[in-house]
Amino acid sequence: MKVLKSSVFAGILTVLSISTVNAQPQPPKDLPHVAVLATGGTIAGTADQETQTTGYKPGVLTAAALLKSVPSLDKIAKVSGEQIVNIGSDNVDNEVLLKLAKRVNEVLESPDVSGVVVTHGTDTLEETAYFLNLVVKSDKPVVVTGSMRPASAIGADGPSNILQAVAVAAAPEARGRGVMIVMNDRIGSARYTTKTDANSVDTFKPVGGGYLGTLVNQQPIFETRVVKKHTVETPFDVSKLTALPKVDIIYGYQNDNGYMFDAAVANHAQGIIIAGVGAGSESRFILPAIKKAMEQNVLIVRSTRTGAGFIPEDEAYPGLLGDSLNPQKARILLMLALTVSSDPAKIQEMFHTY
Ligand code: ASP
Repeated sequence: MKVLKSSVFAGILTVLSISTVNAQPQPPKDLPHVAVLATGGTIAGTADQETQTTGYKPGVLTAAALLKSVPSLDKIAKVSGEQIVNIGSDNVDNEVLLKLAKRVNEVLESPDVSGVVVTHGTDTLEETAYFLNLVVKSDKPVVVTGSMRPASAIGADGPSNILQAVAVAAAPEARGRGVMIVMNDRIGSARYTTKTDANSVDTFKPVGGGYLGTLVNQQPIFETRVVKKHTVETPFDVSKLTALPKVDIIYGYQNDNGYMFDAAVANHAQGIIIAGVGAGSESRFILPAIKKAMEQNVLIVRSTRTGAGFIPEDEAYPGLLGDSLNPQKARILLMLALTVSSDPAKIQEMFHTY
C-alpha cells in the first residue's frame, strides 16, 4: 500500500514537472508580422549620464538598435525595422508627415503585414498620430509610441513602450479602432490623446474621453471605441499630395493683437486656428483682424487654449467651430480638409465628423 502510495505520488510529481516545463511560454509558430517605422525622438536618444533626462540628443539610435534593445519582442511578433527619418519631433514638418503616411499605407498593403508601429518624439507625437488617423487607408492596427526618458537613462521607458506597441499592433482585436498611441501600459486613441506634462513619464492622457484600453502582462485589453470617424472612413488621400495647405495657430491671451492674423495672411496662410481663451472667445483686439482675414477667404477655426472642451456656436465670435479638437489637432484636420474642399459648410461638417 505504501509502495502504491509513493508511486502514485511520484507519478503526480512527474506530471507536474512535465506540465511545468510545458508552461514555459513557447513562441507560437505563425507570429504576426509588425513593421516598425522609426522617426527619431527621445526613444532613440542618448545622453552622457544615466541620470540625464534632459539635455540629451534625440534621434541617435537607428531602428535596428531600438529593436535590439527590447527583450522578448521576437516572442510576440516577427518584427522588421525601417528608418523614415531620425529627428526630434519638434522638427517634424509636413514633408515628413506625408513621407511617413505614404510609407505606412504602402507597408499595410502587403498581406504579410498585420500592423505598423511608428516610433516618434513625444513633443508632437499626437499631431502625427492624428494625421495618420485621418489618412491611413487600412483597418489594420497602426500604433504610435515614444518615450520620455532617453535610451541611456535609468528606468528608460522606450523598450517597454516598443514591446507594448508591438503587442497592440499584432493583436487582431486592435483592428478598426483608428490610430492608437501606446505608452506606459495604456492604449489611447489618436483623436483624444494628448501630451499633458513636459517632463513626467505619465504624460499622455485622453482628454475628454477614456483610454481605449490597457496592457496587462503585455496583453492588450480593450475597453472602449471612439465614435468619430477615421482611417478608411475619411475622404483624405495623401498618395498624390506633395505639400499641404498652410495653416497657422494663433494663441489668445489678455491684451492680444490683430497683427498676428495680418502676418499669417501676408504669409499665405489658407487657414488659421485660434487657440482661443475659454470656449474659443475672441477679444475686441483681434476681431477686426479676424474679419479682415475672412474677407480674404482665409478660414478661421475657433478652438480652446485650455486643450479640452467643446466649442459652441456664438454669434459674437466669427469662425468655424473646432469641435473638441485641441488647437494642434485642429490644424492637422484643417490642412487635410483644405485638400478636398474650400466650402466652409463642408469643412465645418468635417470638424464634427472626425
Ligand atoms: N524633444 C523630444 C522629441 O519630441 C522629446 C521626446 O521625444 O520625448 O523628439
